[in-house]
Amino acid sequence: MEKYLSQLNEAQLAPTIQKDGPMIVIAGAGSGKTRVLTYRIAYLMSQGIDPFNILSLTFTNKAAREMKERIAAIVGQSEARNLWMGTFHSIFAKILRIEADKLGYPTNFTIYDSQDSDKLIGSIIREMGLDKDIYKTKQVRSRISSYKNSLITVRAYFQNPELKEADAMARRPKMGDIYKEYVDRCFKAGAMDFDDLLLKTNELLTRFPEVLMKYQNRFRYILVDEYQDTNHSQYLIVRALSDKFQNICVVGDDAQSIYAFRGANINNILNFQKDYDNVKLFRLEQNYRSTKNIVNAANSIIDKNQTKLDKVVWTANDEGGKIVVNRSLTDGDEGRFVASTIWETKMNEQLENKDFAVLYRTNAQSRAIEDALRKRDIPYKIYGGLSFYQRKEIKDVISYLRLIINPADEEALKRVINFPPRGIGATTVDRLVVAANGYKRSIFEVMKNIDKTELKINSGTKSKLQDFVTLIESYQVMNENADVFELAEHVTRTSGLIKEFKKDATPEGVTRMENIEELLNGMKDFVEGQKEVADATASLAEFLEDVALSSDLDSDKEDVDHVALMTIHLAKGLEFPHVFIVGLEEDLFPSAMSMNTRSELEEERRLFYVALTRAEKQAYLTYALSRYRWGKLVDADPSRFISEIDEQYLDITTPIEERRINPMLDADIFGDVSPNTKRNVVSSNNIRFKPAKQVELKKGSPAKEQPKFQPTVPKKLTRVESSGASGQEANLFDGKLVAGNIVNHMRFGKGEVLKIEGVGSDVKAEIKFQQVGVKKLLLRFAKLDVI
Ligand code: ATP
Ligand code: MG
Repeated sequence: MEKYLSQLNEAQLAPTIQKDGPMIVIAGAGSGKTRVLTYRIAYLMSQGIDPFNILSLTFTNKAAREMKERIAAIVGQSEARNLWMGTFHSIFAKILRIEADKLGYPTNFTIYDSQDSDKLIGSIIREMGLDKDIYKTKQVRSRISSYKNSLITVRAYFQNPELKEADAMARRPKMGDIYKEYVDRCFKAGAMDFDDLLLKTNELLTRFPEVLMKYQNRFRYILVDEYQDTNHSQYLIVRALSDKFQNICVVGDDAQSIYAFRGANINNILNFQKDYDNVKLFRLEQNYRSTKNIVNAANSIIDKNQTKLDKVVWTANDEGGKIVVNRSLTDGDEGRFVASTIWETKMNEQLENKDFAVLYRTNAQSRAIEDALRKRDIPYKIYGGLSFYQRKEIKDVISYLRLIINPADEEALKRVINFPPRGIGATTVDRLVVAANGYKRSIFEVMKNIDKTELKINSGTKSKLQDFVTLIESYQVMNENADVFELAEHVTRTSGLIKEFKKDATPEGVTRMENIEELLNGMKDFVEGQKEVADATASLAEFLEDVALSSDLDSDKEDVDHVALMTIHLAKGLEFPHVFIVGLEEDLFPSAMSMNTRSELEEERRLFYVALTRAEKQAYLTYALSRYRWGKLVDADPSRFISEIDEQYLDITTPIEERRINPMLDADIFGDVSPNTKRNVVSSNNIRFKPAKQVELKKGSPAKEQPKFQPTVPKKLTRVESSGASGQEANLFDGKLVAGNIVNHMRFGKGEVLKIEGVGSDVKAEIKFQQVGVKKLLLRFAKLDVI
């Protein structure tokens, strides 16, 4: 163990070997927080603590796996295996499975993924006859999710008139009814959604003191990574479990709190010292990940936030290259810049694809990057898209399996009752749903007892329903003896799924078949893997739980060499030698949705800090002057975040010209456009033509010398200038705006200023917008153009 402890610096060693009591490590990015957690677990074990008594909660399952491997290298494989390690969701799903009956759930409860939840919410909205343009499925789901994460149960909802009022104000007065129906239907289907895994754990721990005691005694040592992003529900679980022994160690960085929109509460980290007695606070200051340039640039960014804990981050690493800032004309050009830079750097420095990551604010941005990487034959992988298990064909197979262990599972049943087609129409299914709701039974039970019901269904359809019941029951019998692989293989054949997919000879159809084969291979692996563990059962329920909670970030196979593409949110905790942060444009990053209050803007800035601090050796910031958004080419201004970085750390290039001048660079060879993207066309003499309908690109022409990087340039309209009192970040008005001005707002459109009030940074304007009525806007955030 000593040998390993010498791999830590002094500041890291202190929290690592602080064995007992509550402690918090607050430190900036790349300073070794995760490393401390890892070594601390190994240390605890070397001190005789049983791995069964250690619970470690991480942000991804992949992180948990990596930590386990590292620990295994120190203390040995057989010991490390017994650690409780994983995400909140995966750990508590396991516990809930053990305790399910206490809460009235079947042991084999289903975990609904977000697709299932969306489908159920969609059907409820339809069944209730509500307007689906007002009750948008995703918005309803996120509302329900936020209730659950704040522990607002259906009953609590109806007892709180403010909540009802808030929903009524948001033109969704039926929100509570949908919430109730959704919760009832999940319960009836023996299903928990992701948020339930936390909510029900809380319920379990509060309602059953003996259960709480059991897990308090089991988890004598608790460790939490990325503590700044825990939500209220997670906070309460940790608090309850650690209450007895108080051996709780959390690590985090308030500057990297980026999930407020999903209910994460930065106060959890800020208040930790108040929650426990005699908390030991540790700070780490040395960054081991990044170059001096990157660390200093990141510090200069986060300095702009008002709400933050004071922290020092420095590094002994090399100076490194300056951060490259690149401007492109369009998002297509941006993609080509990224691809050509990766290509050249790989060649020049003998690097692998996996040394590069491209990070963006929104998933939609990946398309332009993908197009360009494909042209260069650079392998890439998009994280956070549809995971393998959410693909149609896979979900079809999985749905059969879900039905086998939990026939009440409504979403699984609806998915496969008529797939492959067996003559059970949508009307029949609708009737079954209504009947099931009426009888307060599952659809499957209604089908089983169809003769005892008063359902008007003709005898032909009845026998088809009975056949389906018999089919599923025969699988259930098989499940008693066969392993997961044998069962799934049998199901795909006898349900007609394989036959159905084989009919489709298109490339997509072939891919579907390959995916099913891949799924079966994965199951074989799972079965073999479980055989090695003496007391494991390799049960179908366990397999399905893994499936429901796996993200594609988790399933990444280390040996595959590809460029990683992902949103910044997903990149938290990760590191890459070369990182591109793309789409650094106002209204995209910072996002237009997040510029209404200072705290929203500060969260965007933290997100930028997270992005920049993923880079080890080199960071690139790119922006385009125009970009396709919602199918239209729109003008864009460079992000304020670029100009917030101290200029000494930046290398501001004008690559558009350089590419034109240097014939070795890519424009002539690779700058061509793929047939399905309407982008700028570059002819062989490198003169840029615009495709017919493209809007005028206002900023510079290829032939002229381009100015160096300039922040926001006003366009036709006069942007009201900032007084500069608090730097470039806030658009402070200095009295130029007066009542009577007609202004244009990014989101609200055109409006008339009614009055101006307040002083300094609190100046507000009351504006009557044509479309949305009167609004009061804080001028330091509102982006207004005076017309
Ligand atoms: P983040 O805030 O991004 O989650 P972190 O604080 O968790 O970062 P780690 O990921 O633990 O930081 O460490 C960053 C990098 O520095 C890792 O590659 C880690 O192995 C390395 N590192 C940390 N401490 C040391 C050390 N004492 N000696 C050598 N390398 C170290
Ligand atoms: Mg970390």
